[in-house]
Amino acid sequence: MKSRIVLFISAVLVVTAGCSNTSSDAIESDVSPVSCTSTTIIDGPVNIATTVAPITSIVANIAGGSGATITGIVPEGTNSHTFEPKPSDAATLENADVIFINGLVLEEPTKDLALANLKDGAIICEVGSAILSPDQYIYDFSFPKDGGKPNPHLWTNPPMAKQYAEVVRDVLSRLDPAHADLFTQNYAAFAEKIDALDAAMITATATIPEAQRKLLTYHDAYAYFSVHYGYTVIGAIQPSSFDEPTPKEIANLITQVRESGVTAVFGSEVFPSPVLEQIGAETGVRYVDVLRDDDLLGEPGGAEHSWLGLMRFDYATMVEALGGDASALKTLDVSDVVKDNATYPQ
Ligand SMILES: [Zn+2]
Repeated sequence: MKSRIVLFISAVLVVTAGCSNTSSDAIESDVSPVSCTSTTIIDGPVNIATTVAPITSIVANIAGGSGATITGIVPEGTNSHTFEPKPSDAATLENADVIFINGLVLEEPTKDLALANLKDGAIICEVGSAILSPDQYIYDFSFPKDGGKPNPHLWTNPPMAKQYAEVVRDVLSRLDPAHADLFTQNYAAFAEKIDALDAAMITATATIPEAQRKLLTYHDAYAYFSVHYGYTVIGAIQPSSFDEPTPKEIANLITQVRESGVTAVFGSEVFPSPVLEQIGAETGVRYVDVLRDDDLLGEPGGAEHSWLGLMRFDYATMVEALGGDASALKTLDVSDVVKDNATYPQ
């Protein structure tokens, strides 16, 4: 009985504290916790949480050398689109001064958990939402407009990844002004590598006959990439539910592959699908099943375990399968600009 009373009293206290917090926040501050504008200055190394591995890698390239701690939440090789964080991820999120997420409705369960555990003054910065306005969102095959989730894969397009890095630089410089010069230097070095990757992909793309610059992928991760490099995404096989396509959808895709004259269809290492194999076999078109949109190559600490390494691998795979010459990509230096000490859950 006694313990029940104690519990009841503490519940009242929590509710009261919650109310007063809300009202004082509303009066004192118009800064939303979901924002890339922080008014807080951190005394000491910044604690950073991130979601998918490409964002973790981009953040690590900017924050490296400042003593910041970077912890990813979404394990590599899992479906980030349906990922539900574990209750234990709350500890990582509640310690963070800033949580970098992609946004464009990619990581809602993680964002909800972050909001519920956000420490005072901390922010959730949606880098994708920060650089793209809703009228620029692409809705397409696996991300139809009526589903309410835009295609979130901005990081497979280098100029957009560079803008992510810019947002990260600005957020970290405000949080930790003592290291602002370092973040600026890291950004400049990283931007140079991104530009080199971009230039190499433009060179490599030019070696593919224009009529063959067509992508049929399983996972729908190259929408913004295709606009930038002049490819046509003729389709993406994965339904918006992330289930397997129906037999009718498969039959339509087989017709589409035959009519489009594509020279290769691309599967994803994270989403092995017998369907794509079947389409390849029935149409006689080459089936390449190794693309990966957010699962970095190798193991953490490895030479190609980086956003740069991942993009170089995907681009070279596409270019060669479509009949082009990927040597401009293969000679690139894709090492990180600083040592990556981030934690990548596996
Ligand atoms: Zn994806």
